[in-house]
Amino acid sequence: MGETSPTATIVIVEDEPAIADALAARLRAEGFAVEVAHDGLRGVELCARMEPDLVVLDVMLPGIDGHEVCRRVQRDRPVPVLMLTALDAETDLLVGLGVGADDYMTKPFSQREFVARVRALLRRVQRAADGSATRAITAGPLTIDPARREIRLDGRLVHLTPTEFDLVHRLAQRPGIVFTREQLLEEVWGYADGTAGERTVDSHVAAVRR
Ligand code: CA
Repeated sequence: MGETSPTATIVIVEDEPAIADALAARLRAEGFAVEVAHDGLRGVELCARMEPDLVVLDVMLPGIDGHEVCRRVQRDRPVPVLMLTALDAETDLLVGLGVGADDYMTKPFSQREFVARVRALLRRVQRAADGSATRAITAGPLTIDPARREIRLDGRLVHLTPTEFDLVHRLAQRPGIVFTREQLLEEVWGYADGTAGERTVDSHVAAVRR
């Protein structure tokens, strides 16, 4: 506690009221300001209005699904997205599609795990914003500009999600060094836990390679 701003605003987009209420109550108890939308379109509107620091987004939503909500929300302004899925296989599929979420949790999960992920994601974004490493890096055809959070390939701007950016940046800072999945999880995602997390690394690395 206390590492992230206690006034951080979080938007939850989840159509199951019991889950939405439980997650909102827990985040409020942790000191966050929380707003809830129960369908995709309202979620997009809410994000445009609130300009939240983080979005918790269920994949299966009435109206427009989480995939499309993520795209629309990210189009307006970059914001970290924690996506909730019903199946592990769905997570792999979504990362493969390059949906642009920064982290994924498969239901059911514990409230404690949920809060840990939210805090890790907020910390990561804050750390990136603090610009601890702002020197541009050139690695072969890649130019990485941490101050602007831009990556260019042969001079052409490459679209990456915040997580993908952090992953490439971290790898490029120490070329030739082999990282374990655990190291990447800890350094990029800000936590190190079981196999679900390691799968997240695999999926994101696959997305970046594409
Ligand atoms: Ca749902």
